Amino acid sequence: MNSAIESVKPAPINLLNFDRKGLQAFFVSLGEKPFRATQLLKWIYQEGVVDFDQMTNLSKSLRAYLKANCHIKAPEIVAEQLATDGTCKWAVQMQCGNRVETVYIPEERRATLCVSSQVGCALACSFCSTAQQGFNRNLSTAEIIGQLYLVQQQLGAERRITNVVMMGMGEPLLNFDNVVAAMNLMMDDFAYGLSKRRVTISTSGVVPAMHRLHEVCDVSMAVSLHAANDALRDQLVPINCKYPLSELMDACRAYAQNGPRKHITFEYVMLDGINDSLEDARTLVKLLKNVPSKVNLIPFNPFPQSTYRCSNIAVILRFRDVLQNADIVTTIRKTRGDDIDAACGQLVGQVQDKSRRHLKLQKAAGAENHAL
Ligand code: SAH
Repeated sequence: MNSAIESVKPAPINLLNFDRKGLQAFFVSLGEKPFRATQLLKWIYQEGVVDFDQMTNLSKSLRAYLKANCHIKAPEIVAEQLATDGTCKWAVQMQCGNRVETVYIPEERRATLCVSSQVGCALACSFCSTAQQGFNRNLSTAEIIGQLYLVQQQLGAERRITNVVMMGMGEPLLNFDNVVAAMNLMMDDFAYGLSKRRVTISTSGVVPAMHRLHEVCDVSMAVSLHAANDALRDQLVPINCKYPLSELMDACRAYAQNGPRKHITFEYVMLDGINDSLEDARTLVKLLKNVPSKVNLIPFNPFPQSTYRCSNIAVILRFRDVLQNADIVTTIRKTRGDDIDAACGQLVGQVQDKSRRHLKLQKAAGAENHAL
């Protein structure tokens, strides 16, 4: 046998990649009892211990095994920006040089972390700067829960993160298994113990995954709607071409029946002259008629190549009034952290684009150079 191959040591297993069920299966595969999982979760997420030698309620032989074969490895914070309103944005370095962004939003009574699920995004929503970056890959569970782990460490014991929104870079439902495992850890009493009402997944409408989600994980759901008719939504949120509004609304109704909040939050970005007319508001009221809903109007946040403008405040208020008069609870999202580009749709990170769109562009550029 080739001795070079023989001497290659397998990469250590990162224990941040397991939720409780995953850890239980891991320990059982080692001939250990499943309750080792809850002991380990407590050490990692509640005590902040990463050194196996300090995990004194595990047997010596198990500690030695873990030390030789496993590690507890979060990604690394490589940059921090603090906004005047207290919002803080961290660039988090993943393997292979990719970076994503995580945003901490403190308020009087709560502190929210906006977590990324993918490096870049493949969905190409026309008003979102993450989309312009292209897509590289899904984040692992360790890289997703690692964002909460890192930020909680930065904040220290006095300031706890009370809410998590999966509204950072990426489409969380296109990274289903890793996102579900990370959300399980957020809600696990032996890890972060957040209530299911305080963990929100935001999706642009990956309908089959919405149906699957309510079978496996009970979190609050936000849907990025942005248009109340298919023709406009096809343009703004192209995944609508695959899963049109009728299917999306069916999935929302089904989720609301089973979900922890009994309603869906609909996000609606206000784009000047595009989706903000009185008629748009009335169409939206009709669309939401049979869905338990709240609506969150998001003032559009511009970014360097964006061609859209934000609707003016009078138009946003008029739009809100139409919804409220139809008894739909409607809020206008307060823009946070815009002076450090940490607001909705402004997260860019560092993405080595691997999407087909990018390859096409590269090919075209190559052909052009050739022609010169
Ligand atoms: N892909 C998921 C998660 C991203 S969440 C989703 O689409 O829901 C980010 C939220 O910010 C989404 O509602 C998104 O539509 C919105 N958004 C994107 N770009 C924006 C911008 N430039 N201004 C305001 N909101 C934006």
